[in-house]
Order: sequence, then structure tokens, then C-alpha cells
Amino acid sequence: MKIGVDVSCFGLLCLLLFGPSLSAQDIPTMTSAELARVQVHAVPGKDNLYLVPGFGGNSGGNVIFLVTDEGVLVVDNKFFYSYPEIMEQLRKVTDKDIRYMLNTHHHYDHAGSNADFLEDGIPILAHRNVRTNVLRDERNAPEGAPVILYEKSATVVLGGQEVNAHYFGRGHTSGDSVIHFPALRTVHTGDLVLWGDRLDGSTMSPFFDYDNGGSAADWTATLDGLLTLDFDTAIPGHGPILRKVDIRIFRSKLDQFMTRIKVLIDNGVGRDRIAAELDIADLNWPMPPGRIESIYDELTQ
Ligand SMILES: [Zn+2]
Repeated sequence: MKIGVDVSCFGLLCLLLFGPSLSAQDIPTMTSAELARVQVHAVPGKDNLYLVPGFGGNSGGNVIFLVTDEGVLVVDNKFFYSYPEIMEQLRKVTDKDIRYMLNTHHHYDHAGSNADFLEDGIPILAHRNVRTNVLRDERNAPEGAPVILYEKSATVVLGGQEVNAHYFGRGHTSGDSVIHFPALRTVHTGDLVLWGDRLDGSTMSPFFDYDNGGSAADWTATLDGLLTLDFDTAIPGHGPILRKVDIRIFRSKLDQFMTRIKVLIDNGVGRDRIAAELDIADLNWPMPPGRIESIYDELTQ
């Protein structure tokens, strides 16, 4: 499903363009204040690296453009209806063509318009488990499954610059990659790290997608892998541009969160009481009881 790159649409206009197969809920609208926050801009201090911000909710995940003389490398692409928006934002910073698309993971708010980019002949690289997850998760179009797969790492060279995709283990899903731009000392972490509030003001917190191979138990070690990379700037899956110290803070919070759950389990607290007994108010991570019970299940299997 694709419309021309010179067309952007919101609400009713989208329905008219896309046809009756989509409902109004499928393509949410944004206020002008929200739209102003999600416009493409340069990543400060990083030559030719641009960010289309994603603060969760209607704005999806963070999208990166690396613009080179030989073309553009893109990381992630938001929702299934986001192709026109992404192309419009790209054209504000370059007239070069997209050469490669990378996925940090399969979720519909990060890899949702894969199919449109594949249709343009742009190869999509991702961890092998992203393909499995796209084909399993009913929120993804199977036509958007990545076509170049790796298990540990892959390197793309474009415009004389290396871009490395690393798999450090399970966490948010079974297929989370960290995309590293060594020359720019920058990473895109995908949803292994998310930070702050959504556009609607609600606060984000880690999500453990057990249906797609996620693991709360493994996540901290996966972040340790990420922290071995040389970088000073991190683009989280959702939220503002971060520094390396922020990734350490996120890792520390996740470690405290998991340690407190383990202590309760060691003290004999059962599944029915685990969410009520867990005190994580200081972490500022709203966490539905079912999510904590799922972690209990993982830790007691
Ligand atoms: Zn995700």
C-alpha cells in the first residue's frame, strides 16, 4: 500500500487516498504542536545524520537518515502508513535516493512501512529473528519481512562510511539490533532503550514482548553489549537524543527493577502478590501488573 511521495495526508484525507480498507483509528491525526515536535532535524555535532523524532504513541519510533554522496541509509520507518511522511521529511534534507533500510526490530511502529521501501527496490537488513517476528506478528504486513539477514552483526559501507548492526542478545524482543555509526560515535538503540514521555504526556517504560522472544532476564546483559561500543550519542527507540551516561542510567534502573522482583520471589512472594508488593515508584516507569507477572513467570520457569 503506497501513495505518491509528494502527497502527505492526515485523517479524512488519508482515508480518501488509502480507500475504505483503513479506519480512522488506523491513521491517527496529530495537533500542530505535536507535528512541530516530530519534524526532521540534524543530530547536533553529527555530520549528515538526521533524526525524524519519535516519542511513542502516534509519533512511533525514532528514524535516522545517514546522508552520503552515494545515497542515504535509513534506520526504521515508523508505521504502515508512514512511507509518504518519511519521504517528505527526507526530501527536506537531501535529493539523494535511499540505498539501504535497517530495522532495529520488527515492531509495527518501527518497521511498519518496510513493504513500501522493498517495493522501491531498497534492501532491508535485519537480524534473522526480525524476519521470523514480522511473519508471526499479525500487526506486521508479511510483505515487509526483511530480505538480508544476519545473526551476530552486519556492516554496510556507504559513501566511504561504515554502519554496523550488532545483535547483543534478547531484550525487548528476540531480534533487537543496535545500529552503530562508528565515525559519528552514535548508536540507534531501538527499543532496548526508551526515554521520557510520549507526545500525550504519558511516561514510557520498558516492554517485554514475550510473544516475540523478549526477555527481561537477558535485557541487562544485552545493554552491557551495547555499552562496549564506542559512542557519545544515542538515539533511543522512542524519546530524545541521549548521551552514553543516559544508557548507563537506563541499565542501572533496569537492573534495580529486576533485582527487586528477584528479591520478592526469593522471599516467597507469589505471582498473585508480586505486582502489589513491588515498589518501583522511584524508577518512574509505569508498569501494568500483567507485565510484572510475565517477568515472574520468566524468572520462575
Ligand atoms: Zn518495540
